[in-house]
Amino acid sequence: MPKVLWIGCSDSRVSEHQLTGSKPGTTFVHRNVANIVAFKDANVSTLLEYGVEYPGIEDIIVCGHTRCGGITAIVDGVREHYIADWLCIATGAEQAADRITKERKLNRE
Ligand SMILES: [Zn+2]
Repeated sequence: MPKVLWIGCSDSRVSEHQLTGSKPGTTFVHRNVANIVAFKDANVSTLLEYGVEYPGIEDIIVCGHTRCGGITAIVDGVREHYIADWLCIATGAEQAADRITKERKLNRE
């Protein structure tokens, strides 16, 4: 029975098995471009419900990574419509991260 629900990026460089050394059967996995937890995404909602309702899951991890192509596309823009539709979900997160970064810089000055 899995003990961990892992939400990560689809990028093949960031496999949860390689990052954590986990063994088969110990991690329930959801991966998508830019590891987005999207409102009204039935797939991720189902996994989160599973993670909350079933007693075997002890931890839920949302793991991003450096040099993420999805995050770069959010910042730089993208023309492909399915990719753009998916990544626009995270536009608010980018703006929130920018605001927090600016606030922290002001607090250091
Ligand atoms: Zn990525």
